Amino acid sequence: MTSLEIFDRLESDVRGYIRSFPVELSSATGTTIVGADGTEYLDFFAGAGVLNYGHNNPVLKQALIDYISQDGITHGLDLATTAKREFMETFEKHILKPRGLEYKLQFTGPTGTNAIEASLKLARQVKGRAGVVAFTNAFHGVTVGSLASTGNKKFRDAAGFSLAHVDRMPYDGYLGDDVDTLDLFERMLNDPSSGLDTPAAVIVEAVQGEGGTNAASIPWLQRLRELTAQHDILLILDEIQAGIGRTGTFFAFEAAGIVPDIVALSKSISGYGLPMALVLLKPELDIWKPAAHSGTFRGNNLAFITGKTAIEHYWTDTRFEQQIAHKAGILQERLDKFVAEFPDYHLALRGRSMMRGILSTGDHSWATRVAQRAFEKHMVIETSGAHSEVLKFLTALTIEDSELERGLDILRDCIVETQPNGS
Ligand code: PLP
Repeated sequence: MTSLEIFDRLESDVRGYIRSFPVELSSATGTTIVGADGTEYLDFFAGAGVLNYGHNNPVLKQALIDYISQDGITHGLDLATTAKREFMETFEKHILKPRGLEYKLQFTGPTGTNAIEASLKLARQVKGRAGVVAFTNAFHGVTVGSLASTGNKKFRDAAGFSLAHVDRMPYDGYLGDDVDTLDLFERMLNDPSSGLDTPAAVIVEAVQGEGGTNAASIPWLQRLRELTAQHDILLILDEIQAGIGRTGTFFAFEAAGIVPDIVALSKSISGYGLPMALVLLKPELDIWKPAAHSGTFRGNNLAFITGKTAIEHYWTDTRFEQQIAHKAGILQERLDKFVAEFPDYHLALRGRSMMRGILSTGDHSWATRVAQRAFEKHMVIETSGAHSEVLKFLTALTIEDSELERGLDILRDCIVETQPNGS
């Protein structure tokens, strides 16, 4: 076992994931991560949704190696580069056009929270209103603008001052299956005495990643689109974790047949784990003044190369979507079996497609204990939710069926060995 001494001694206490997976990692391919001591780990976490095409995907890697060998531009600010032109052409041809979507592209600083900051800033400028509505359990990032729309207290408390200009509404399912939470929002929008000022925008995840793998229903998303349009409110879809195939289609909102005004993308958009973020905005919203939202690292040309190659390889026909649906079917079947096999555990499922969660409804600590047990068996899987109560399945979408089954076998053993408290 290699030592984590320098990480413990020199790196700030802010480090997080290393605490759940306290080993040094050296290399990775597909869904296998190799530790510095040679131990192999089966990855059911995919870099928090960054590695939808697996670690070091060979097709993307080759394109990257070729580009670097040819001394392609690496850093390009927001200059016109060949890599960026080709990415945009590919994105327009294979992603936007086939879906009938008309958006302009804004490349922001390379992390998800940068894309959210830009989306919120733009929406406020366009509407000339400060308010934004975000939902319970939302996670939109940790820089201050995004953080104001994030729900989780642990992150909010770190801000050090009050996070203003965001009103909170209950996400779909927050008040139980029988309540349509948009009734409240609609009522408040229509009532001049509700105390809710019409916001510039509503920001929402079609499936909440960090907040507990909660999937909004299709009718709920459709109603939210209608409601926002009726009230002249912009709809921002945060597709940072749920997008890029994770829920079975390129965009998670596609399933609802809605067209958001603004879409934030990051994580798997580069396909290779290279930092990149992108905001899609309806052309009429593009009121930015030149360089009004700048940033040194807006043009990660290496990410443009792998992002373009990923689209060309996986998204020019429907085969990849069919493969995702097939794997999602395996996952659904096995998760249903867990629920049926362990009735005393009171298991419940969350999410959709390849963004799934399972929790023991009576015991918040169960998922963390199962994840820890899984790690002892050399498997990397994370939890989500306000209390880390949901065990989150976030494998590469390219995972082999056999690896998916193997991971689910390991998890079944972990479930057998991890009784919920009080059951
Ligand atoms: N939005 C969503 C839905 C996310 O899941 C995340 C990160 O997990 C973010 C925004 C923030 O992205 P980043 O961590 O790259 O800033």
